[in-house]
Amino acid sequence: MRGKARVFLTFDVEDPVTPLSDDAVLWLAAMLRERGVPAAFFLTGDKARALVRRKRLDVFEALRTHDIGYHTNHHSTHPTVAEYLEPHDWAGGVAEVVARERSGADLIRELTGRRLCGFATPGTSWGPQIPGALTGLDIPAHLHSFSRTGGGHNPHWYAGTLCFARSEAVGPVEDILPDPLRFAALLEELPGLLERAARSEDGVLHLYVGHPTIFVNREFWDGINYAAGRNPDPEAPIRAPEPRPVAQTRTMLDNLAHLVDVVRACPSAEFVGFGEVVADRRRAPVLHAGWFGRALAEAAAGPGIATTSRVLSPAQLLYAMCREVLGHDVERDGPVPEVHGPVDRPDGTVATGAPARVGRDRLLELAADVCRAGDATGALPVLARATGGVAVPVASLYRSLLDLTADGAAGVRALRSPPESVPLVEAPELPEVGDEISEHFARRVRRWLHRPDLDVDELTRLTRAQTWTLRATAAA
Ligand SMILES: [Zn+2]
Repeated sequence: MRGKARVFLTFDVEDPVTPLSDDAVLWLAAMLRERGVPAAFFLTGDKARALVRRKRLDVFEALRTHDIGYHTNHHSTHPTVAEYLEPHDWAGGVAEVVARERSGADLIRELTGRRLCGFATPGTSWGPQIPGALTGLDIPAHLHSFSRTGGGHNPHWYAGTLCFARSEAVGPVEDILPDPLRFAALLEELPGLLERAARSEDGVLHLYVGHPTIFVNREFWDGINYAAGRNPDPEAPIRAPEPRPVAQTRTMLDNLAHLVDVVRACPSAEFVGFGEVVADRRRAPVLHAGWFGRALAEAAAGPGIATTSRVLSPAQLLYAMCREVLGHDVERDGPVPEVHGPVDRPDGTVATGAPARVGRDRLLELAADVCRAGDATGALPVLARATGGVAVPVASLYRSLLDLTADGAAGVRALRSPPESVPLVEAPELPEVGDEISEHFARRVRRWLHRPDLDVDELTRLTRAQTWTLRATAAA
């Protein structure tokens, strides 16, 4: 066993409709505080404004021992995240996220006097520009991300941000708490989950409790008011969700308290704040002598494009290989900057000019083209270009360079002094996990919230392109 499972609890706080859901935040925050257990509460801008309007500043006060996160400005109010990203390319989408989300994030920082620990995806609405924009919003992590790594690492890096995959969380526990049979089953399952998390490489377990509003309501405030891409009629009163019987609220609170006590009593687990996990996982990897050669060997060992390195994403690895080809000493230069996946639309010249081999001069030109794009735009080009109309898909260049390093014990040196003629191999365009992530995105985004004709083709393409940025976190 590597040590204790580090368990963190999170809540999404978003219901501006039900005043009693404000009290649910208080009850939950107090129950956890009495037990010395930190949790993270992700608030929407609209919820914060509703609390101010209802003079419930005591709710912010009750959260002082917990972490505060952000859960979008307007959650399910249309246009939602995926809807406002629909017309945008990569850069336009990143700018749109910052423009639309900044005021809510700033308001919550102002009301709580705290830094935000993360951004939690609202329900089924997401786009890859969310993690891409968080640095610009001064938010250090992304919760409920639709991304994941091939190796199931949680957390991981995607589009330049530390991400926690929704698919890796246990919960929402709120669905289980009112049901005696399901709750008993969870309690039975829990020791195994904790043991597994303690033994896992990443060592964290995300217990996603859910929503304070669901402790007092049997249905969601947005499900009944914002379905199928439509906002409620501004002339009519907004519909209030069906309340939960008080006795059931008490059962849910008691069961959650019991669940927390079971984890506290478990010798192989400990509660940690989400902010602490984030700070721990944002550390840069320690680069020991020979790190670049080892990263190359690790990537070259498997087929396709590996996303499980703790040092470099595939995009960073390709950029670094090209730097080495151009005569830089990557190993000595140290940390490789973040590089995004190829976000430009293919322009029609795709790969038709790609030869089966290139000479050393052309290889240097291709490497220079990749580095120029990386330095100028922070992203890989779709095609690396060289004189004579040579245009090579970056995945092909990635695999061809890796294959050079895998040839015998040459490693890094093979990049610095490539042979006269270098074979270019065909390669899958994306990491294998790209299909899984984009299918997950397409499935979730098409659920009840959005209008049926929401066009997610461009968002899906960008989601896939950013799988070039996947890597595991450094520390475990
Ligand atoms: Zn939500």
